[in-house]
Amino acid sequence: MTEDAAVLGAGVPDAPAGGWRTATVSGVRRPIQRSVQLRLDVHDRIDHLPGQHYVVRLTAEDGYTAQRSYSVASAPGDPLVELFVERLDDGEVSTHLADVVEPGDELEVRGPIGGWFVWDGTAPALLVAGGAGVVPFVSMLRHARAIGRDDLLRIAVSARTMAQLPYAEELVAAGALVVLTREQYGIRPAGRLRAEELLPLWEEGQTAYVCGSAAFAEAATQLLVASGRPAASIRVERFGPSGGPA
Ligand SMILES: Cc1cc2nc3c(=O)[nH]c(=O)nc-3n(C[C@H](O)[C@H](O)[C@H](O)COP(=O)(O)OP(=O)(O)OC[C@H]3O[C@@H](n4cnc5c(N)ncnc54)[C@H](O)[C@@H]3O)c2cc1C
Repeated sequence: MTEDAAVLGAGVPDAPAGGWRTATVSGVRRPIQRSVQLRLDVHDRIDHLPGQHYVVRLTAEDGYTAQRSYSVASAPGDPLVELFVERLDDGEVSTHLADVVEPGDELEVRGPIGGWFVWDGTAPALLVAGGAGVVPFVSMLRHARAIGRDDLLRIAVSARTMAQLPYAEELVAAGALVVLTREQYGIRPAGRLRAEELLPLWEEGQTAYVCGSAAFAEAATQLLVASGRPAASIRVERFGPSGGPA
């Protein structure tokens, strides 16, 4: 192994190569309402970087296909790939994954994908998520813990209520700033994320990662820019075409 290859993600440019793989569903959990956590055994899997995603493709009996992207929640060292899918009532793919998929089923997946919205575990990062946008950050957090570098991460997460925040226990244990828009949390009254709440999370040399619905990503990015964060230090992942700020 070359010195470069020993660095996590040294193979990233090659990672998306390769076509569709078969993933066997090893575990299905519903830790919070209206969502599903899938643990997948991906055959011939390429290690992912925290922040990357897979594409899941469903094929109907008549040959019709639908495919969607899902971020990886597991750390690279986890032998299984964990996805967390928020169920949208009128969603084509998320309803199937949430309602139909069972342990032992096989899914077609492609990945890992993404070379920009990734964290390799070496630099300080501010992670700002709304709703299911926490998923790639859970991978980053788990990786940080695995390599003993959780000191590099500052996390702010937003959801409507605590019960709707994915991975709430893990994020709270990591010291995340929790913003609830529909209920009080501790002494914090219900309300959207404010710029002054992000200020104490800033650190020299940090890259900011923002993830969530298009509306959340836009609002959070504006907060960061308005409070003096250089646009070049902000990386954004948008999960869908619509959806209000969490
Ligand atoms: C890089 C990337 C990573 C992603 N990671 C995750 C993840 O980890 N977990 C996860 O749950 N989703 C994730 N998504 C979103 C996911 O790809 C799908 O868009 C989502 O599951 C909806 O698909 P669907 O087929 O159920 O809904 P569709 O049938 O595509 O859409 C149904 C309706 O919901 C609207 N809609 C679509 N997506 C969203 C959304 N995200 N929020 C609000 N409204 C929406 C559509 O406009 C439409 O009205 C990710 C998206 C990207 C681009």
